Amino acid sequence: MSSIVVVGSMAFDTIETPFGKQDKILGGSANYFSLSASQFVPVKCVSVVGQDFPKEHLDLLKSRNIDLAGVRHGDGDTFHWSGRYGYDLNEAQTLGTELNVFETFEPELPESYRDAKYVFLGNIAPPLQMKVLEQVRKPQFVALDSMNFWIEGQRDALIKAISKCNAVVINEGEVRQLTEKYNMVDAAQVIRKWGPQILVVKRGEYGAVLFDHGDPFCVPGLPLAEVKDPTGAGDTFAGGFVGFLASQANTSLSRELLRRAVVYGSVLASFTVQDFGFGELLKLSREKIEERYRRFVELTRFTRVA
Ligand code: AMP
Repeated sequence: MSSIVVVGSMAFDTIETPFGKQDKILGGSANYFSLSASQFVPVKCVSVVGQDFPKEHLDLLKSRNIDLAGVRHGDGDTFHWSGRYGYDLNEAQTLGTELNVFETFEPELPESYRDAKYVFLGNIAPPLQMKVLEQVRKPQFVALDSMNFWIEGQRDALIKAISKCNAVVINEGEVRQLTEKYNMVDAAQVIRKWGPQILVVKRGEYGAVLFDHGDPFCVPGLPLAEVKDPTGAGDTFAGGFVGFLASQANTSLSRELLRRAVVYGSVLASFTVQDFGFGELLKLSREKIEERYRRFVELTRFTRVA
């Protein structure tokens, strides 16, 4: 079975939403991605944690098909992100980004990671994303996520990393900021000219849009009775998207397969937003995922007019 190499943050998050506040709970792009993608295939994680990171959490990840041989223990504190959301949960306001052990992190992939066919360059400094990609010998499918922090601070390095990818999976506001295009069809053209054939635009509670060489494909967000915290939804989406594709490794990357992958991404993300942190992700099973996939099918089913 194919496995996925992911690089991203392992973090403490301090989060405030209209529905509550949590201080220094576990988070990070690599964590959310790995817990989501490992529902489909084994994941090999590249990251760095500080001395303050709980061993129990690392043990828990290991028990869930997540290889941590590429996770370093740095001398210092774990990455810490603080953010706030208003009633528009689609827009996070960053209050603080303390890179800590990431300031000096030099990723070195264990030999057992280097033949991976699927790579996810999660939200982290673009030069780190590149260093990881350069160490994978012959990747078949590379996807990338990023955020405003890196678009503002390291745009050129980010575009260079993007040019090496098959797919970019970022949210709508970030697509606009990155391409300086308001319209998503125009923005998709700009990104596809840089190299990737595929752009997946995440639109928070409004769903996601897939752009490739043909007509776009749209999935709505699932209307949920309870939404508490959108943090990590994007990484969880990417985990479902890439995880599903990797689980179908021997099939060709058809448009039909990509569409199903976008639905799986939406399914997984819909669990994350129901609670703070990894609350719902840790309770997941394949049965729950398939049951919610069927709800997405119903959500969008309508008949052709004769
Ligand atoms: P999202 O899926 O976009 O909501 O990602 C949320 C996660 O990204 C949080 O758990 C944060 O720890 C992490 N994060 C926030 N800012 C950054 C950053 N600048 N670099 C890497 N990870 C970050």
